[in-house]
Amino acid sequence: MNIAVYCGAAKGNDPIYAEAARTVGTWIAKNGHRLIYGGGNVGLMGIVANTVLELGGKVTGVIPDVLFIREQRHDGLTEIIDTTSMSERRNKMIELSDAFIALPGGPGTLDEISEIIMFLRIHELKGPCVLYNTKEFYEPLRALLLLMAKEGFMEQEDMNKILFSDDIDEVAAYITKGR
Ligand code: AMP
Repeated sequence: MNIAVYCGAAKGNDPIYAEAARTVGTWIAKNGHRLIYGGGNVGLMGIVANTVLELGGKVTGVIPDVLFIREQRHDGLTEIIDTTSMSERRNKMIELSDAFIALPGGPGTLDEISEIIMFLRIHELKGPCVLYNTKEFYEPLRALLLLMAKEGFMEQEDMNKILFSDDIDEVAAYITKGR
């Protein structure tokens, strides 16, 4: 499967986040999946990509024509796909991917995974979609989504389309066997 991983261009200030990135990268490589990601060689992005590559796995980086991002790109990937803009990159990553994982990250990660959640709601995507919940990082987002459902801005059943977990075995089963 092609697995999109969205995650921080920073490492975060607790080594537990890098460990989570390595865990996900290891699972991708050891199970013959391909990593689809934003192409950076920085932060958790670089850690996931390098873990997959070190274990002999395949990595596709989808890189927009944005100077700051180009300067931080990974030059050792299996495949690079150039896009003209951030939005074209997001679309390309979605088009290529069979499953979507968000590790902890910043506003870029939140933006990307919010779009996935939106597409799940309007039945444009089937997922699977995982919020990798290291150190309960995504609990505030889960609380916000539950509030949206409670206040009538989202259906409660939409919550069932997202797995919140930091257990790689549970994540693997969810992705490969479906919900
Ligand atoms: P953030 O979570 O704000 O650190 O942003 C990370 C997300 O935004 C990644 O999933 C990337 O797709 C994109 N992004 C932000 N900065 C970079 C970068 N330096 N190189 C590649 N992609 C980036």
